Amino acid sequence: MALGSKIYKVGDITVRRINELETNGYTAKDLIPDWDPSFLEQHKDWLVKGSMDEDLEHVIITIGNWIVKTPEHTILIDTSTGNDKNLPNNPGLSNLQLPYLQWLEEAGVIPEEVDYVLLTHLHYDHVGWNTKLVDGKWVPTFPNAKYIMPKIEEKFFGSSESHNEANKVSINAYEESVLPIIQVGLAEFIGPEGGDFMDGIKFIPSAGHSIGQMSISITSRGEEAFFASDVLHHPIQVYRPEWNSCFCEFDEQARESRLLALAYAADRNALYFGTHFPSTSAGYVSRDGDGFKWRYE
Ligand SMILES: [Zn+2]
Repeated sequence: MALGSKIYKVGDITVRRINELETNGYTAKDLIPDWDPSFLEQHKDWLVKGSMDEDLEHVIITIGNWIVKTPEHTILIDTSTGNDKNLPNNPGLSNLQLPYLQWLEEAGVIPEEVDYVLLTHLHYDHVGWNTKLVDGKWVPTFPNAKYIMPKIEEKFFGSSESHNEANKVSINAYEESVLPIIQVGLAEFIGPEGGDFMDGIKFIPSAGHSIGQMSISITSRGEEAFFASDVLHHPIQVYRPEWNSCFCEFDEQARESRLLALAYAADRNALYFGTHFPSTSAGYVSRDGDGFKWRYE
């Protein structure tokens, strides 16, 4: 895909997307097992403007991550799927060869400048560019960065406990994209309670999609950017928060985290940055009666 053309300003920080991949390969029913086509009666107008195929059957989703520049730091929030990865249960996303580092350069970022990589969770599509393959060896793509990740995620994905049906597409991602970072001493861990990580940046527990997922909030001059990880996969779920995606591992907890995230974004008027949303993948959540509504930004 490409570097996102929009540059968002939130206080003194800027946020820009790297869109690694886009697909219409999932029907709404594949992505959201509880999908009810009567949803279309009210929502079809905005959905066919880039959120769903015109067949009104397939949804559009993306894989990507965010570049955040503060006056002091260059930060990545998650790192997409990566090149050359060997994902034995995920052939369609194995061995990608995309000009990701060129997209970073277009955004004015050279890998040596990145000082923090903040990881929401450790699924294959969030950790890939942590490392790159050099002479047959996985080395950190961002050699001067600290890679910050939830401890619960590291423990789980570093053990065979995670080798279950829900996570089979991520098998090997830990070995290729996380362990090499730990081995060279660049990893730091966030405890299960989350909380302030540094000035204006906090981790917010939002488990359910995965065992120890965390969202990330960055505030600057009274404005807030909310990186909501995978609590939602598509803006359809803003309107129907009880609908999990097929990728949610712990159903009840995923619903609770989704409601909390929507309330958080709406009540704080935070700019919401999704991982897998179509279009810009960013926008505003607001309250609408007992529920919520979505507007792309
Ligand atoms: Zn994901």
